Amino acid sequence: MSLRQISDALLHWAPLRNVAGGCLRALAVGIVFYFVVYLLERASGGTTQQYRSRGFLQDVAYWFYYRSGLNQLLFMAAFFSFLGSRLAFLQLRIVGSLHPIVRGILWILLADFCSYWVHRLQHASRFVWAFHATHHAQEQLNFATTVRFHPVDHFISDTLKFVPQMTLGASPMSWLPLYLVMEFVLNTQHSRIKWRFGVLSRVFVTPWFHSFHHSTDPRHYNKNFGGLLSIWDHMFGTAVDAPEQPSEYGLEDVKMPTLVSTFVVPFRLLRQFNDQASSNSSNARNAIVIPRSAGEPPRG
Ligand SMILES: [Zn+2]
Ligand SMILES: [Zn+2]
Repeated sequence: MSLRQISDALLHWAPLRNVAGGCLRALAVGIVFYFVVYLLERASGGTTQQYRSRGFLQDVAYWFYYRSGLNQLLFMAAFFSFLGSRLAFLQLRIVGSLHPIVRGILWILLADFCSYWVHRLQHASRFVWAFHATHHAQEQLNFATTVRFHPVDHFISDTLKFVPQMTLGASPMSWLPLYLVMEFVLNTQHSRIKWRFGVLSRVFVTPWFHSFHHSTDPRHYNKNFGGLLSIWDHMFGTAVDAPEQPSEYGLEDVKMPTLVSTFVVPFRLLRQFNDQASSNSSNARNAIVIPRSAGEPPRG
């Protein structure tokens, strides 16, 4: 087969054309978000220096990877269609027959409740934390950090959320007002908009609220896990607030300066955790205090 035939075949391969279309959509949505968030950041007195950092470019790469549908094509589509066919009996559509507005609100409440506990697991399990560290290694939080997730972390969290979401029934995102509120809340929570949004922050995750989740200050470790709603953190005692936002973000002992390192370092962390676990178990009788080691999940 000639090079020309190969390139023609690739150009006409439907999944690749879908990804190319997804890239264009990701670009269009990204540009809109960039300008909206940038204006809100300026208006609220927030910083915009993050857009001149290398970390922002890393997050832009993740933005295209996830929003173009490439991750879906490579990892998720086949696996979830297999899982869906095996677990078809779980399609109970619990909220499916309700009024669209009631269905939307119930769906969000239940799905976000699951997300909260999945996020707690991402911090509590050393295995999952090693990959979740990619999200937390960002020192220059920006709106695109919302999609900065290692593919393994993304795969695990989506798999854990799959069964509850399947049981609930189809997502109600076809209801435009709800969709827009969700998109706004999710895509601004890593921005530098400095407004506190008053009483709304008791219900929704605001950029102010989520910024403490990324703080390097040990007093903020393992706090503010909420994805869309902050009510779970208030309910389960993991909410934190302060008069000033954290001065630094990221991880003290894990650095990911390049895009490649955001992918590779989690595997090194995993090996490090395994080495520690085996040396701890062989020294278990003598071990009294196990020091906090590089990259260990912050325990607040
Ligand atoms: Zn986290
Ligand atoms: Zn985050």
